[in-house]
Amino acid sequence: MKTFCGRANPTTGSMEWLEEGEDYDYHQEIARSRYADMLHDKDRNVKYYQGIHAAVSRVKERGEKAIVLDIGTGTGLLSMMAASAGADFCYAIEVFKPMANAAVKIVEKNGFSDKIKVINKHSTEVTVGPDGDMQCRANILVTELFDTELIGEGALPTYEHAHKYLVQEGCEAVPHRATVYVQLVESRRMWSWKKLFPVHVEAEDGEKILVPPSEMENCPGLPSVCDIQLNQMPSGDFSTLSDVVKMFSVDFSKPVQSASTCYRVQLEAVKSGKAQIVLSWWDIDMDPSGMINCSMAPYWVKPTSALQWRDHWMQCVYFLPREKPVLQGEKLHLTACRDEYSVWYNLQKARADEEEQKADVCVQSPVCRCRAHLLWNRPRFGELNDQSRTRQYVKSLRKVLKTDSICLCISDGSLLPVLAHYLGAKQVQCVQPSRIDLFHPHELWQAFFKANNLEDKIKIIEVRPELLKPSHLEDKKISVLVGEPFFTTSLLPWHNLYFWYARTAVSSHLASNVTVLPQSASLHMMIVEFQDLWRIRSPCGICEGFDVRTMDDMIKDSLNFRESKEAEPHPLWEYPCKSLSEPQEVLTFDFTKTVPDHCLSTEGSVKLLRKGKSHGAVLWMEYHLTADISVSTGLMKLSNEKGNCEWNPHCKQAVYFFSSVIESEILSDPTAVEYAMNFDTKTGEIAMDFKL
Ligand code: SAH
Repeated sequence: MKTFCGRANPTTGSMEWLEEGEDYDYHQEIARSRYADMLHDKDRNVKYYQGIHAAVSRVKERGEKAIVLDIGTGTGLLSMMAASAGADFCYAIEVFKPMANAAVKIVEKNGFSDKIKVINKHSTEVTVGPDGDMQCRANILVTELFDTELIGEGALPTYEHAHKYLVQEGCEAVPHRATVYVQLVESRRMWSWKKLFPVHVEAEDGEKILVPPSEMENCPGLPSVCDIQLNQMPSGDFSTLSDVVKMFSVDFSKPVQSASTCYRVQLEAVKSGKAQIVLSWWDIDMDPSGMINCSMAPYWVKPTSALQWRDHWMQCVYFLPREKPVLQGEKLHLTACRDEYSVWYNLQKARADEEEQKADVCVQSPVCRCRAHLLWNRPRFGELNDQSRTRQYVKSLRKVLKTDSICLCISDGSLLPVLAHYLGAKQVQCVQPSRIDLFHPHELWQAFFKANNLEDKIKIIEVRPELLKPSHLEDKKISVLVGEPFFTTSLLPWHNLYFWYARTAVSSHLASNVTVLPQSASLHMMIVEFQDLWRIRSPCGICEGFDVRTMDDMIKDSLNFRESKEAEPHPLWEYPCKSLSEPQEVLTFDFTKTVPDHCLSTEGSVKLLRKGKSHGAVLWMEYHLTADISVSTGLMKLSNEKGNCEWNPHCKQAVYFFSSVIESEILSDPTAVEYAMNFDTKTGEIAMDFKL
């Protein structure tokens, strides 16, 4: 089947109609899937194998046949473990067709076709009976349906259904139980992902402080989970206010209820501070005794045991609806509420009066009322709260603005127009291209302007740049055009070059001596060795003795689909790497001129200066606000002896994984990686090729 999908090109802004077969989605899903990461998760695999072995043995000891139901079999791994452990028969259910097909091949290749039946269905469609998918109900239930939040992938309704219709009463379950843990913390860094802090601006006539409106202050934010690699959060960036506590458990061997519910625990503040964040993770006991335990606890909780790196399960950051000051020794109640797919938290003082208790009931999942959480995602809040970044913009704006400046800002949800006004521009207006069709942030801006007495000072023009008319600008020419640039439609760093296209579209409105800020941008590249991230794209081969190369081949095919290998976005502050080459500027984009008709290409080579494995190239953009002020959305610092990198904590960088890894030694004549890049100004895409 072929469908036409309309989408705005993130870089050029133009509408494109793409003809997409269903293959396209499959390949995307497989290429970017977490299957490889799961198969590399040794700790998980070993513990599942032990748990499955123990469950099969318990059933056999009772003199029963071991009939296994494996919901979400993926590669068939857990069913093959069960068959090897002596199970009599396994029903392996997989809803995703390409995976179910792969599972059939993998099961066959490993010689288990007579013991494992792969069923390509959602588990709730599976039938039991003489003519059904399953001959009888199973007495062992094996699944791995968990996400970082435990229940986000629908584990609860799936278990609820399975217990009602697919397994016997008193069945064995692997895992046997899951437990969710929480810890209360104060963290300016993480809290800055939820709310806007006052922004300090040094203006000619003294310091101005931009404050968020009260609606924003009291907004509970969004229900979507914030999952991160908490092990990359330095201990200096948060302070723990409570011990780690068990929040709730789910016993998977008994009927499971998915209906919404709340759990409540008592905490004691171990330190005085501002309670802002609940950090949370879970563990699973593979057997009833709890001897086989697989835990997502972060480094400060289990400092002695070696941490298993994984990306398919991380840790959660929950934002309390309001920050609460707590005193050491104070008794607190923490409430977790959940629906079928998500969890949210609230904190109450044990001695709260009735009013406060009432105000703090949190049975409803958080819904953003202030609209800011629809406009800005969490990293964007963090970026806007980054005072040193703001100072760079203030410094450069001060250089270019004059009292008669007519200023136009093109960026999504940007504070630059307010900064420009404070710094004395005569007229300030802004265009927020990506948000126009999606949602009208007008009310938010009105509230924002009102809170800062800025009504009528800044005009929001609700059209796309190419539709801008002289009347929108009161027939004046723009003398200063600014952008961060930031657009919500950007996925890869260079998508923000949309600013250049927008600048080109508004050319006729620009004064002949217009100043454009940033004046230019550059694309930078560096070859790196990842500490762990390489696993997500690396073939697995043999997993716990089972040959899963069919899966590796399938991922490879999907990555090579249409032979267009692409870079992918990753927030590298979460994924440590060391540089093997010097950072190199590879392309520059001159915003003082319009986008040229011809392509921008470059080729060259980078020397590998350090010993290590070249897993790939990292690419990022730097914006040159003025001749001497630049901001980087990628590399912030490089410690030269070891090659450790510090990345911009608010942005995703582009990673291009090499299809084969080369190991370099320190050489007197260092190895070089050749590269070729081509920025197609028509499509806005950057094609790249590397030769090792
Ligand atoms: N069991 C494998 C794969 C786990 S990934 C392993 O441990 O390596 C989870 C898989 O479950 C995915 O392939 C997903 O498509 C599938 N899945 C999730 N919910 C399902 C359901 N209710 N019925 C059938 N398949 C499901």
